[in-house]
This record gives sequence, structure tokens and C-alpha cells, in this order.
Amino acid sequence: MSNRLEDDEMMRIAEQWITSRGVTIREIGELVMMLQRDYYPDITLEECEFSVRKVLSKREVQNAVLLGINIDRLAERGLLDEPLAEIVRKDEGLFGCDEILSLGIVNVYGSIGLTNFGYLDKTKPGVVGRLNKKNAENRIHTFLDDIICAIAAAASSRLAHDRPD
Ligand code: MG
Repeated sequence: MSNRLEDDEMMRIAEQWITSRGVTIREIGELVMMLQRDYYPDITLEECEFSVRKVLSKREVQNAVLLGINIDRLAERGLLDEPLAEIVRKDEGLFGCDEILSLGIVNVYGSIGLTNFGYLDKTKPGVVGRLNKKNAENRIHTFLDDIICAIAAAASSRLAHDRPD
């Protein structure tokens, strides 16, 4: 007998963990919309949110979400050991493990998500910028900011596959 949680239950938990960190599915949808508007002017926020949920329905995405958010939470509570604690707390530029974890999400719909991921990570629009500021207010979102960029990038790739023209 397996202890594996049902897929629906895992998706519910992943979504709940994201919202518990102050990010809504709608806000991730807004990032997708921003990325896709130039290519599909008629795209709706509902389509974008639907695509975000499709990405979140994948087990490898749920695993990355839970792992990343849990490290952020442990860091906030001072439960990581040094020197890792300080590296995560300060979101040190050369750490890189937050991006590496997120690449697993970016690639669920192929590597075309990479460009979008890089763009979001660099320009930090909307909710991504807010998470980065929170890092300065003793909230630690070192992993979450990359995870959100990755989910939005993957959801955009998914839409591009669906609407190839
Ligand atoms: Mg980060």
C-alpha cells in the first residue's frame, strides 16, 4: 500500500501553501497575461489562471513548491544551520539553488519557458517585486520568488503550445 497522497489533495495543499505566503493564483495569472498579451491580444485572465492551475496539477511542480516554501519557512523561523541560514536569509546572488529548483517547473512544458523565466526574474514585475521587498522586511521568500516566476513561465509555455499561431 502506498502513502502517496491523492493528486487532488497534493494540488490543494500546494495552492494553499502558495496563498499562505501571500500570493494568489490570480496574481500569477496576471504575470502570464503580461507575458502573453503581445502574442494573443484577446487572451483573458481566466485563461491565464486556468493555465496556472494546469501547471500546479503536475506532481513535479507540487514537489518543488512544497520544498521551496518549506525552506523559506524554516529560514524565517531560524531553523536552518549556518552558514546556509545566512545565505538563504540574505538571498545571496550566487546561491543559485533557488533557481535550480525552479528550473524543474520551467521545463514541464519544454525549454521555451526559459526565456520567460529569465525575463520575470530580471524585471521582477507585480507580485515578484513585492516578494523581493518582503525579503527586506524579515519575511524570507528566497525560493518562492523563483517558484512564482517559474510557474508563470511554464503556464505561458503551455498557452503557446495550445495556441501555436
Ligand atoms: Mg530567489
